[in-house]
Amino acid sequence: MFKIVSKRELAHDIARFDIEAPLIAKKVLAGQFVIIKIHEDGERIPLTVAAYDRKKGNISLVAMRIGKSTALLAGLKEGDSILDLVGPLGNPSEIEDFGRVICVGGGVGIAPVLPIARELKAAGNYVISIIGAKTKDMLILEDEMKAASDELHICTDDGSLGYKGFVSGLLEDYLEKNLIDNKKTNIARCTAIGPAIMMASV
Ligand SMILES: Cc1cc2nc3c(=O)[nH]c(=O)nc-3n(C[C@H](O)[C@H](O)[C@H](O)COP(=O)(O)OP(=O)(O)OC[C@H]3O[C@@H](n4cnc5c(N)ncnc54)[C@H](O)[C@@H]3O)c2cc1C
Repeated sequence: MFKIVSKRELAHDIARFDIEAPLIAKKVLAGQFVIIKIHEDGERIPLTVAAYDRKKGNISLVAMRIGKSTALLAGLKEGDSILDLVGPLGNPSEIEDFGRVICVGGGVGIAPVLPIARELKAAGNYVISIIGAKTKDMLILEDEMKAASDELHICTDDGSLGYKGFVSGLLEDYLEKNLIDNKKTNIARCTAIGPAIMMASV
């Protein structure tokens, strides 16, 4: 059993769970995920590790309620436990000192981008982050992304905060404004995580 040590609502239908999982917290790297099973009859669902505290032995998951299992998870509270949690799984993100990098997160995709931005900054990169949500109230992890970035650019679909439009539009504007000799940019890498439609346009 894996105990939920704290739960925080980040936005409508998006919550952050800090979970006691010392063995996973010890090993997990940015970009990896876990598979959780909430109870005996539950389905197994993958969720990315959004943060980890190796000293406390906790990992943080940020989940958007979209269907059966994420609704079950949303119903859990601090002190409750998750039956099974397997991981860390998946290939970690490549973390090196690339130079100037851009991290793009859309919606709940900001959560998996956070540890990548953090580690890229810790590795010496100049991290430019672009995050977006439908509205100001739907935007998550703004303070955490600010701390993990050298520059943070925000957009909302309705213009209630920051640039009015999609992250892809803001990214395009940023790259155009930062062209060198009207030709290329000095951006070494761009990591983007978000809904399929966002990924297609980024
Ligand atoms: C590697 C990986 C990492 C991930 N990391 C995260 C993360 O960090 N945070 C996060 O929030 N998500 C993450 N996801 C997505 C997450 O795993 C899914 O949101 C989750 O598995 C959905 O499970 P569910 O049982 O809640 O939804 P399901 O019940 O399986 O529903 C899925 C979709 O089907 C629709 N649906 C369900 N039932 C019906 C029906 N009867 N008719 C029509 N449509 C229906 C739902 O509306 C929903 O859109 C990740 C996925 C992967 C692959």
